[in-house]
Amino acid sequence: MKSFPHLLSPLDLGFTTLRNRTLMGSMHTGLEEAENGYARMAAFYGERAKGGCALIVTGGIAPSEAGRVGVGGSVMNTLEEAHHHRPVTEAVHREGGKIAMQILHTGRYGYHDKIVGASPLRAPINMFRPHPLTQEEIFSTIEEFATCASLAREAGYDGVEIMGSEGYLINQFIAKRTNNREDDWGGSFENRIRFPLEIIKAVRKKVGKDFIIIYRLSMLDLVEEGGNIEEVLHLAKEVEKAGATIINTGIGWHEARIPTIAMMVPRAAFTWVTAKVKGHVGIPLVTSNRINTPEVAEEVLARGDADMISMARPFLADPDFVKKAMEGKSEEINTCIACNQACLDHIFVGKTASCLVNPRACHETELVISPTAKKKKIAVVGAGPGGMSCASTLAERGHEVYLYDAAKEIGGQLNIARRIPGKEEFKETIRYFSNKLNQMGVKLFLEKKVTADDLIAESFDEIVLATGVTPRKPEIPGIESANVMNYVDLVLHGKPAGKNVAVMGAGGIGFDVSLYLSDAGHPFTKENYLKEWGIDSSIPNNGGLTSKTETKSDRKITMLKRSSGKFGANLGKTTGWIHKTSLEDRKVEQISGVIYKSIDSEGIQIEVKGKEMKIPADTIVVCAGQNPRRELLEPLQKAGLTVHLIGGADLAAELDAKRAIDQGTRLAASL
Ligand code: FAD
Ligand code: NAP
Ligand code: SF4
Repeated sequence: MKSFPHLLSPLDLGFTTLRNRTLMGSMHTGLEEAENGYARMAAFYGERAKGGCALIVTGGIAPSEAGRVGVGGSVMNTLEEAHHHRPVTEAVHREGGKIAMQILHTGRYGYHDKIVGASPLRAPINMFRPHPLTQEEIFSTIEEFATCASLAREAGYDGVEIMGSEGYLINQFIAKRTNNREDDWGGSFENRIRFPLEIIKAVRKKVGKDFIIIYRLSMLDLVEEGGNIEEVLHLAKEVEKAGATIINTGIGWHEARIPTIAMMVPRAAFTWVTAKVKGHVGIPLVTSNRINTPEVAEEVLARGDADMISMARPFLADPDFVKKAMEGKSEEINTCIACNQACLDHIFVGKTASCLVNPRACHETELVISPTAKKKKIAVVGAGPGGMSCASTLAERGHEVYLYDAAKEIGGQLNIARRIPGKEEFKETIRYFSNKLNQMGVKLFLEKKVTADDLIAESFDEIVLATGVTPRKPEIPGIESANVMNYVDLVLHGKPAGKNVAVMGAGGIGFDVSLYLSDAGHPFTKENYLKEWGIDSSIPNNGGLTSKTETKSDRKITMLKRSSGKFGANLGKTTGWIHKTSLEDRKVEQISGVIYKSIDSEGIQIEVKGKEMKIPADTIVVCAGQNPRRELLEPLQKAGLTVHLIGGADLAAELDAKRAIDQGTRLAASL
């Protein structure tokens, strides 16, 4: 049985004790603004506290209208607002947890026309220009932070987190990049850090001694004219003197062009940053970013990089993360794979957050998994993400479940995805479901390609077809040539590719295949990641930026697509730019508006804007989308059986694992 002595030891804050070293990092979930949002927040946070999380930090709440994330964004500046939060804090306290409210003033990142900043400098990721705060407005903003904190106390919170990183207002005062003031709040470093220090002092004065104040300190800005390590250490000491209880780590501004939390960032890739501050302050330090298992968290704490671990998305993926670690059952944890697909990507398009691997996240009150009143015998065909989630949830509810797959292992296409460099985390989802299927008593049959007759003979009450998709084979003269293969042959079956490759299709799979083909084969380590993205771990100046190591691919790769317009327009909102940047750095060529003419042993003949040309290629990889695989449907329906379709078998267009798992879970909850 695994144990996590550092992670699970209590932490004494002087006036109160945290039950272990886990902190659920702040995440905007959209529940803050949703209908019935406070009841839903209470259920969401309450489940995480019940699961053992020691200290929860809420999504950001603005101290004023100007500080809101966007129009209609949540604010706490009245007693009435504070009272709305009561059910949330009570739910967490009932479960023995503690909860702090994050005070977030977005400054120039706010998406509305009343935004303010240290200086009138527009953010590269925002169309609105901030109004520069006058001295008087600075004093009233400080007061607003203090009032907001005292209202949070009124609402029952155990503390607040003052958001001083990620490029938000406080960070905008601290960095030269965004502060060109010439008064007492700009110029020298002492002047630029006056704003956060005055805020902490004002908050401490208002809330008294026995209230947690977490200060989120930007330790690595990752933008030009960001800070250096001396400044970080100086600020950390001053933050402690000003009255903070805990310092949390912030990595990278939102406008930074370096991935800091996505799947292609190695686990615990930034704890070395927090470690630099260790020994310079007396208050507990929290580290964060890409820590997603108790094993990694334990290693970080045992090494002494920090006193606490902040995990945000891992608590979306599994509310019982800590409980399972306490019981030595870490292999049962549903691990956050850092895909961003259902959490951050949702928030960016104004949808409530959830989780690809756990569709119940933020939907606790609506997606309820309850024991069945009538036990049925149910077959699930296909053990991809759709089938795995459906079968395990059906069995969890008490049904008798038979799960079949033609392949040697469960996982379906996730077994292809996990072989893409930077997507290895998908193996954790397969491991999670493997344990859950076993634990719930699902009868699993591998290497069993079932027929309609097999299913009819077994007299099932219900049948779920989760048979996925088949890769599309476009009708192009020469498509049967020996130099043509599809992504399954290449990635799953390891068919070798030559030095000159054309990739047909530029959807998610075309991008992944191009990343696979252009990968230099360097081990997926923190050191290689820092070099590839140009991060100087001595943080000398410029927010830790340095030049990137060249990553040009040895292979000549040309991506082709029929539609016009930019490549990668449909990739994930918060990760698409990373794939695009990587392929650009690796000098992968891209041609849009292509008409495919023919293929022969020397390459592919295409027409672009009326001009014919040949793309020389010793290998052509087809990534031209997929068709649903549902040959079993008709005979089963003809036999009068009740059949349900989920995942790719239902609809191949715009299919992803998020939809497959969501559909599988929801169907299972309803049968
Ligand atoms: P599948 O995963 O296709 O599984 C269907 C299963 O049914 C297969 O295991 C098959 O063997 C079995 N089967 C079929 N017929 C029978 C039969 N008659 N008897 C028994 N078994 C049968 N999605 C994301 O969300 N994020 C990503 O980052 C991502 N990356 C990807 C990268 C690559 C390279 C690929 C190929 C896919 C990626 N996807 C990603 C897509 C994702 O994997 C699919 O959307 C998802 O797997 C579809 O799930 P499914 O359950 O519908 O079917
Ligand atoms: P896709 O996104 O639908 O892309 C298919 C590509 O093939 C497109 O470029 C399409 O564009 C081209 N195409 C379609 N029909 C064609 C034909 N008859 N001949 C030639 N080209 C054709 O599908 P996918 O790339 O196969 O991905 C499948 C699913 O997996 C996606 O929906 C995606 O969500 C998911 N996935 C997600 C991720 C992720 O990171 N989130 C990664 C991989 C996969 P043109 O018409 O322009 O050529
Ligand atoms: Fe993690 Fe992906 Fe779930 Fe977000 S959607 S919490 S990144 S697994």
